[in-house]
Amino acid sequence: MSDDEASGAPDVAARLELVRGRLAAAEASAGRPPGSVRLVAVSKRHPPEAMRAAYAAGQRDFGENYVQELLAKREALADLPGLRLHLIGNLQSNKAKLVAGRVALVHAVDDEHLARELGRRAASAGARQAVLVQVNVAGEAQKHGCAPSELEAVLAAVEAEPSLWLRGLMVIPPLSDDPEAARPFFAGLRSLRNLHGGAARLPELSMGMSHDLEAAVAEGATMVRVGTAIFGERA
Ligand SMILES: *Cc1c(COP(=O)(O)O)cnc(C)c1O
Repeated sequence: MSDDEASGAPDVAARLELVRGRLAAAEASAGRPPGSVRLVAVSKRHPPEAMRAAYAAGQRDFGENYVQELLAKREALADLPGLRLHLIGNLQSNKAKLVAGRVALVHAVDDEHLARELGRRAASAGARQAVLVQVNVAGEAQKHGCAPSELEAVLAAVEAEPSLWLRGLMVIPPLSDDPEAARPFFAGLRSLRNLHGGAARLPELSMGMSHDLEAAVAEGATMVRVGTAIFGERA
């Protein structure tokens, strides 16, 4: 077996190609320009070698859920120019110092305290940290994300930090096998964007995963977070 086969590289490149095809088809059927949706390849619990294979196939944006894993991969892949790591998972404020200024985008800021802490840490790192605010659109108990009623306060807290750069909103809909079940929550995020300043204030909508990216693109996603469809099942 070659090194490529051992790392699953041909597989990753082929799967990535399929996902790009789905994305292009979804953009076309939504009447959106080709390339208007950024693909974030979610590499959590897959080894850096799998990320290298995706990188070799042209992928640059990668999403990670866990801070320690993200930082380890950042080290392991430090030789890859233009690599952009996104923290897509929940961030505890005591870990804000570890990520501030080290990631392309933090997707899940969801309260004022975290915004202030991340802003403070970005300032001391001399960085301007791009962030999204995660909204619990479905109002699920014990889920991360701010309530829609708290959104304005969290947005204002981000904007009050000179070292944070507010880029948009993110949602994780309730788990379902039916891709169409997520659509109302994607539409809900878009409505919240419209209520809170529109695309001028909130240009990015991070929504859609492996099984429901088409519905997300139809509802206006500017970024989809796709793991399994690119890297296969997680261990
Ligand atoms: C794991 C994860 C994804 C990717 O999910 P897949 O179903 O593997 O595509 C996307 N977003 C978040 C927040 C995740 O935790």
